[in-house]
Amino acid sequence: MINLAQELQGVKTAAMAGHIRPDGDAIGSCLGLYLYMKENFPDIQAKIYLEEIPVAFASIFGVDEICTDYSEDVEYDVFFCLDCADEKRLGPAAKYRQTAKRTVCVDHHVSNGGYADANYIVPDASSTSELIFTILDETKIPVHAAEALYMGIAHDTGVFRYSCTSPQTMEIAAKLISRGFDFPSILSATFYDKTYYQKQILGRALLESMLLMDGKIIFSAIKAKEMKFYNVTFSDMEGIVENLLQTSGTEAAIFMYETAPNEFKVSLRSKNLLDVSAIASYFGGGGHVRAAGCTMQGSIHDVVNNITLHMEEQFKALGEI
Ligand code: AMP
Ligand code: MN
Ligand code: MN
Repeated sequence: MINLAQELQGVKTAAMAGHIRPDGDAIGSCLGLYLYMKENFPDIQAKIYLEEIPVAFASIFGVDEICTDYSEDVEYDVFFCLDCADEKRLGPAAKYRQTAKRTVCVDHHVSNGGYADANYIVPDASSTSELIFTILDETKIPVHAAEALYMGIAHDTGVFRYSCTSPQTMEIAAKLISRGFDFPSILSATFYDKTYYQKQILGRALLESMLLMDGKIIFSAIKAKEMKFYNVTFSDMEGIVENLLQTSGTEAAIFMYETAPNEFKVSLRSKNLLDVSAIASYFGGGGHVRAAGCTMQGSIHDVVNNITLHMEEQFKALGEI
């Protein structure tokens, strides 16, 4: 556990950052902590560094205060790494971690080895946003910080559906919504609503998907030229792998899209049995037991063969095949 008041004692400048290609939890946890500090520690100069925020989050309070420019060289008194499994995934913000006087990491990735001075890593937690809530004084959380943390929790639990959702997750969410913000609109705007192009690329991925290993695995891949044709970028691929996994009878989903010639961003999800974090970690990535990712080189064929081999081994070890 982190004692926030102690970490902020004597601090004049603070910064926080999440992982590259930020998702709802990375954005929510950074904003939640930032807005809480702004309200309760007004003398501390605080800044959030994140890569470009997907437009779906534009209506969230505080998003316009996020800094996406890393050109300034500043030595912060304290630097918070949130929802980020390793230093590499901080992207350009890593330079502020290196020069900061003290570093604090709050995260829930099982692959996080603890790379900061103080580490609060709980792999069983639903989200980093949930962990941030636990280090705050809950009587002093401003409404917009509550809104950001709720959004982060909702995103990482697939709106309270995934097995990482615990009774504590629901209790915290209940406390957050009692602050009184328009949570249905937040869920629609940031989670459920998709642009027409996002719907089209989802449709394409579903249409081209294949069942492998007797229907236990569903797989789909999108090439760079298809992304160009549908006018979509990397952040538009969010949610596709979860949609693939909502196929009856499947245990795991593999979704990949081309990020450079013969280079693929791979997303892995499982329902009950497979440890996809172990597989992603083997290929240089990481994540959680039921949701993980990595980047792999080679043809679509090579990549899918390499991954399914590991899945097959796990099924065998479990006596499932
Ligand atoms: P994604 O498939 O990108 O949605 O990621 C699923 C989960 O795994 C998220 O919690 C990510 O933060 C994590 N993850 C994805 N890629 C990596 C990676 N290369 N290294 C560590 N964690 C990752
Ligand atoms: Mn995340
Ligand atoms: Mn997370």
